[in-house]
Amino acid sequence: MKVIEKIREAEAENRVVFSFEFFPPKTDDGVDNLFDRMDRMVQHNPSFCDITWGAGGTTADLTLDIANKMQNMICVETMMHLTCTNMPVEKIDHALDTIKANGIQNVLALRGDPPHGQDKFVQIEGGFACALDLVKHMRGKYGDYFGITVAGYPEAHPEVIDSSGVATLEAYQSDLAYLKKKVDAGADLIVTQLFYDTDIFLKFVNDCRQIGITCPIVPGIMPIGNYKGFMRMIGFCKTRIPAELTAALEPIKDNEEAVKKFGIDFGTEMCKKILAHGIKQLHLYTLNMDKSALAILQNLGLIDEAKISRPLPWRRPTNIYRVKEDVRPIFWANRPKSYLTRTIGWDQYPHGRWSDSGNPSYGALTDYQFMRPRSRDKKLQEEWAVPLKSVEDIHERFAQFCLGKLKSSPWSELDGLQPETKIINEQLENINLKGFLTINSQPAVNGEKSDSPSVGWGGPGGYVYQKAYLEFFCSQDQLTALLGKCKDFPSLTYLAVDKKGNSMSNVAPTDVNAVTWGVFPAKEIIQPTIVDPASFKVWKDEAFEIWTKVWAHMYPEDDSSKSLLEKIQSSYFLVSLVDNDYINGDLFAAFKEL
Ligand code: FAD
Repeated sequence: MKVIEKIREAEAENRVVFSFEFFPPKTDDGVDNLFDRMDRMVQHNPSFCDITWGAGGTTADLTLDIANKMQNMICVETMMHLTCTNMPVEKIDHALDTIKANGIQNVLALRGDPPHGQDKFVQIEGGFACALDLVKHMRGKYGDYFGITVAGYPEAHPEVIDSSGVATLEAYQSDLAYLKKKVDAGADLIVTQLFYDTDIFLKFVNDCRQIGITCPIVPGIMPIGNYKGFMRMIGFCKTRIPAELTAALEPIKDNEEAVKKFGIDFGTEMCKKILAHGIKQLHLYTLNMDKSALAILQNLGLIDEAKISRPLPWRRPTNIYRVKEDVRPIFWANRPKSYLTRTIGWDQYPHGRWSDSGNPSYGALTDYQFMRPRSRDKKLQEEWAVPLKSVEDIHERFAQFCLGKLKSSPWSELDGLQPETKIINEQLENINLKGFLTINSQPAVNGEKSDSPSVGWGGPGGYVYQKAYLEFFCSQDQLTALLGKCKDFPSLTYLAVDKKGNSMSNVAPTDVNAVTWGVFPAKEIIQPTIVDPASFKVWKDEAFEIWTKVWAHMYPEDDSSKSLLEKIQSSYFLVSLVDNDYINGDLFAAFKEL
């Protein structure tokens, strides 16, 4: 979706929106960490996140790759910066075609700074002279597909700010007139250069309105994080600093903590003043750090750690080709990125009902599904690569995870447990210690408010429901014993399969079971999670592979722990169990005396 449309929607509801800017890190570890951080920040529902284009095009491939992952794996509306420096039109088009193919719709169109070592921007052969050219090109070649944002400079562009630190009135006005040209050529949004004097920004907005610029002008806020970085940045951008800011910073400049705290307070006050003037968008330059940006938003009451709301039980995609998707099999609940990659080739995504999906063919399992960021690998190694003398040691790992004592699981891409797991974690511990090794679960819910912090989704005003669900590995004997008991629990339906594909079930292959649904004002029933026997067959390969590709893989070749895990992989069953009686059922009762 175009950012401008999101902003217009929010304006109509009188809602304040915020966004985060990131830049491409220099190392692979840095990139991993950035995605982890972004993933956490995106839970707070920014209207978009943007990723910069390295000076002179130095990060072109990385920026393209990060933008793609932001839109399609992190599932946040992504705006990619694109500059004209060293970019003949073919390269510009390559970048635009790539992001278009990846379902990204938003670009911050920039001229860029002169390449390193040059004072003045020089148009290269076959390239563009300024952002205006780029905007015109984008509209000419790509029509209405892209939402186009351009840069605005409340203090005028640094090139026209002279040694006195201020642009002449003439230069300022010429800059404004040029900004209007960019908007008239098709830009639909302006994001500003950083500033620390809020009055300058407010005057700039007013001046823009006077000359007929009507699109939203989003203030770029850079929280002061450390003194040296701040001085470098304001020097580079020639930013004016209010006297009270200098006076407050000077005495604490060597105390990093104090500077950070001051930066949060100062940023909060700037934003308060901006919001008080009726501006409803804030853009935070995060410098790839989360704390200051989140603290400012928290101070403003725009986010609340305790009230992270989920539009669906899983994060809704933003890619324009799958934005309507609202039904998924429950099996990948803890592995959303794997699900996204395995279904990336679908030309239709289930909407409303699972059976609407005309394309049930999942992409093949590749090594990609088992790759994890380094930081997560380290955590798994610490928590799971322990000596395993017997199956009881394995039971213990699973039980510890369900109690929240381990933060990682080979079967999960998420950090720790979902909040709803706390409702049943002691029962989960109990069955795990008996050898029913759970990798997915949900408690029964019968009409809880949709803004419940533990089980809610879909925003306030509705009610949510779910059937109790368990998914686990167990031995053949345990499965036989459990199925024997299931006869006394007619509300249970199950699917069971081993690695080779031997299977049992008490449902038909085409029986799709909605296990989560919600009722909202003026909407049809939404049923975002289902159990589908056909998808279970696909999922089981991934679930079994994790025993060896992720867990056993962490041990040396001849380690006995490794062979124990391999034995389990080849002999156990994977079981998906639903209690269809979400009102009176007790799924765990079936495990008593086993
Ligand atoms: P333009 O809009 O083309 O303007 C540049 C200057 O030239 C202005 O003073 C303008 O008034 C003047 N000008 C140009 N053409 C005309 C004309 N025909 N008539 C009159 N005046 C004219 N840099 C990066 O390398 N990567 C990034 O990701 C990046 N992100 C940024 C994000 C924001 C929000 C901002 C504010 C800046 C960003 N920059 C980035 C820096 C930016 O590339 C530089 O400031 C660059 O020098 C100008 O880019 P621009 O798009 O503003 O240029």
